[in-house]
Parts: sequence; structure tokens; C-alpha cells
Amino acid sequence: MANISRLPAPLLEHWEWQQLGACRTDSPERFFAPAGERPSARARREAAAKQVCAGCPVRQECLDWALRTREPYGVWGGTSPEERAGMLRPAS
Ligand code: SF4
Repeated sequence: MANISRLPAPLLEHWEWQQLGACRTDSPERFFAPAGERPSARARREAAAKQVCAGCPVRQECLDWALRTREPYGVWGGTSPEERAGMLRPAS
């Protein structure tokens, strides 16, 4: 069973920024990896997704959300899962 305890309460203010996302009408396949995606295809897909994010009016809100919820999949706020993991890793 999925652990959803990391997610905020289902209050409208936690979600309404998503209505303004530049990806709202885009293909989810651009933002989330299919099973077995090759590294070169992943790099191209993520670059295309990040281009959409670059012009998004809620990019910061999106990144904040992904970091706060420790979103493990997809491009959010112009970052890949690996980039977000690096942001969350304590500095050594
Ligand atoms: S920053 Fe990127 S993933 Fe987030 S809402 Fe905007 S376009 Fe979508």
C-alpha cells in the first residue's frame, strides 16, 4: 500500500497553483519516465520538460511542492528526481 503520509492535507490552497501550470495541457509522458527508458531518451525527455517549466508562472510553487512532498518521480519545477534528491541531501 502506498504511504501518503508525506502529502499535505487535501485543502484547496495546497493544490490550486496546479491550475496555472504550463504543463496543464501538456502530455504527462513528457514529464514522467516510461518503464525501461534509456538514458539518452531520458535526457531528451527531461530537457523538453524543463523547457516547459522554464516558462511556467508557478515554477517555484511546483518545486516547493515537490521538495516538501519528496516527490520521487517526474520533472517538477524544472528539476529531475535526482536533482531534487541532491537538494534534499544534507550538506556534508
Ligand atoms: S514548473 Fe513544470 S512541472 Fe511544475 S507546473 Fe510548471 S510546467 Fe508543470
